[in-house]
Amino acid sequence: MQAVAILVAAGRGERMGAERPKAFLALRGQALLLRAALAFEAAPSVGRIVAVVPEPEIVAGRELLSSLRKLSAVVAGGERRQDSVLAGLAQVPDGFDGVVLVHDAARPLVDVELIEAVAQQAAATGAALPVLPLVDTVKRVRGGRVVETLDRAELGGAQTPQGFRFALLHEACAAARRAGLTVTDEAMAVERLGHVVHAIPGSMRNRKLTTPDDLAWAEAVVAGILRA
Ligand code: C5P
Repeated sequence: MQAVAILVAAGRGERMGAERPKAFLALRGQALLLRAALAFEAAPSVGRIVAVVPEPEIVAGRELLSSLRKLSAVVAGGERRQDSVLAGLAQVPDGFDGVVLVHDAARPLVDVELIEAVAQQAAATGAALPVLPLVDTVKRVRGGRVVETLDRAELGGAQTPQGFRFALLHEACAAARRAGLTVTDEAMAVERLGHVVHAIPGSMRNRKLTTPDDLAWAEAVVAGILRA
């Protein structure tokens, strides 16, 4: 059964300091959301794509993604990222027994290979995400004072796409909502249920674009000036 991809693009992207929401900003002439969506369009394991955008951008979102054969819906997001994910999940038919891949539109340089690796691992085990090892030594800091140095070898940065069997993700998101919890990614909601989440190698190229510097980095990568 082919996976459903949910592209979350409903953040305001305030740290980008731009007029338009971040996912609609252009990277070498192509909106971040479209770039990310094209990778899922090209991924053999993906059957349908749901895009979640800010409510005022629904019409623009439908137009932007109109060339995608796999596009199934463009819907309005919510206040927090997890609310946007729930809006996307509402588009998945009850009883779907395949995998859902949740991806940040703010990671437009995701490639088909990574999407396929997450989809395969999630189908086999129920839950998977890409993790990138940390290069810096990590400190716990409170009130400007270092209180602990963490073991870097055990730490990693969580990326997307994060893949889950639909029933598991649905249950995890509903449980987080019932508990009134804010989760910063879907894996966190699934971990809470005690389900094992498998980590596969992430990629530098799949960086989340947050600031204008990140966008400049991605421009250079796409132009072939920088390798990632
Ligand atoms: O804010 P952050 O960079 O962590 O957002 C990650 C992704 O989640 C982005 O693609 C953003 O558009 C999306 N998001 C969303 N709805 C929100 C907040 C963030 O779809 N309310």
